[in-house]
Amino acid sequence: MNPGGQTCKRSLGDHRLVRLAVRRNLRGFHERCSNPRTQYQGLADVPPLHRLPYITQVTRESRFSYLCNQCGRCCRDKVITISPYDLIRIARAAGLSTAEAIGRYTLRRGSLLLFNQDGKCAALEGVACTIHNGRPLACRLYPLGLEHDSNGSRFIALDPAAGSAGVYGNDSTVAEFVEGQGVASYFAGIDLYAKLIERFRDRIIAIADFDKIELADFRRRAIREALAESNYDYNPLIDALFEADSVCAGRVLIDLPLSAHIEALSDLLARESDPFRVASASAMLALSLGYRPDTALVMRW
Ligand code: SF4
Repeated sequence: MNPGGQTCKRSLGDHRLVRLAVRRNLRGFHERCSNPRTQYQGLADVPPLHRLPYITQVTRESRFSYLCNQCGRCCRDKVITISPYDLIRIARAAGLSTAEAIGRYTLRRGSLLLFNQDGKCAALEGVACTIHNGRPLACRLYPLGLEHDSNGSRFIALDPAAGSAGVYGNDSTVAEFVEGQGVASYFAGIDLYAKLIERFRDRIIAIADFDKIELADFRRRAIREALAESNYDYNPLIDALFEADSVCAGRVLIDLPLSAHIEALSDLLARESDPFRVASASAMLALSLGYRPDTALVMRW
């Protein structure tokens, strides 16, 4: 929990950050664009986020503190990625099923937090977060972000949101700040779901005929499909990633046995025979966990 209680996120409004975030994959940020099917481009030409001037790279030992003064300014105009575990927590906090929570609070099949036309998060009422106990990881970490790349993961400190009443300080360390946000179960959830990515990859290799499928094009199309916010194809695996209650017949509702969700996803995966569906679901899972989508589609034979 942030020191001030109700919390918020990134110092966004900064669209440069949004555009770049999906490529370097800052936890919680994703590309928002009018046509995601056409705007996803190469990854190699974009500088890491922590080298950008409005982001400060920090270590776990860096001095850092943040006092949220509940102004609600940080809960506007953001792009926040939702993991399957985030979605379950949101649903529980709202007293909804995961399917209902997807409809009320998310975009892109459950993987992005919904911000309304007026810029406000769908969970914001006045200056209060109505799902405070189940707010996503990105909201808990704010104003820190988490960046992943091939060299590992690192925290970064984000600039304040315009007009924010939040107060930055150095009363503690990054590690102490993060520990105080109640994020251990979120990281554990990410680890559990991340293990599935390898299984998705194995399934693609088992069912795809890469003598007939051009791998680079296959990857590109799968990533575009995962990023699409509309006109996407039916994909029961992607639905199952976020609709935990539906695939677990309500069992997740009772006591959050994430293993039940993982098992249900594994069963579905074993029955799926369309490699493109598996690939786009794998890219979506990677995105939702804060990884670059292409990392889910590196094939090792
Ligand atoms: S879920 Fe929405 S209202 Fe709640 S902290 Fe996050 S951005 Fe703010």
